[in-house]
Amino acid sequence: MYYTFQSMGLYWLCVIPGLLLGMWAHFRLSHTYRKYSDVPVESGQTGAATARQILDRAGLTDMPVEEVPGHLTDHYDPTKRALFLSSDNYHGRSVSAVGVAAHEAGHALQHQAAYGLFQLRMALVPATQFASGAYMVIFLLGMVLGLLKVALPIIIVIFTIITLFQLVTLPVEYDASRRAKEQLFRLGLVHEHERGGVSKVLNAAALTYVAALVTSLGQLAYYLALARDDRR
Ligand SMILES: [Zn+2]
Repeated sequence: MYYTFQSMGLYWLCVIPGLLLGMWAHFRLSHTYRKYSDVPVESGQTGAATARQILDRAGLTDMPVEEVPGHLTDHYDPTKRALFLSSDNYHGRSVSAVGVAAHEAGHALQHQAAYGLFQLRMALVPATQFASGAYMVIFLLGMVLGLLKVALPIIIVIFTIITLFQLVTLPVEYDASRRAKEQLFRLGLVHEHERGGVSKVLNAAALTYVAALVTSLGQLAYYLALARDDRR
């Protein structure tokens, strides 16, 4: 039985909200990021210098801040205990660059404070990576061999893991932005009139994580619906 052809309508119904939200989120982020990349910060500091100051003030003086290629590839690596900023944000002296750099430093502060949800997210990374890889293999095999029905319970477990990961990611991202803004204002790296811009950039970035969660929830709902129909 080929579920994939039979229930195309249901599939789109479950997946379209996440897809539309994802497109909207990416549009918002690129628009907002570009807009505030043209707004220089009054402090005149680069993203790298901003992150450095936040880390130093927290006592993380030996944590490296490094430059990575790519667009918005910025991240904190908890295994290396290092901050990686994309070239634009590493060298940039704009509201966007400083906001993103401070957000990544916010993740380092979460790690330092052993913030519970950050720890949980870190613990879920291996399972999530395995689940994402397994999904591709199982989905393709299921389609080719017509065994999607047999694979359904495994696919549901996979999407439960992925959805749980996205669910935990959301508050971790908002908390990193909250810590970032707190430090930026406290250390005088961002002035009163620049607050709004920083918030807009970070909120736009967070929306992409909301979209990812809605997408996984939609896929999980679809496979759950298939399993329910199957039992009838
Ligand atoms: Zn983040």
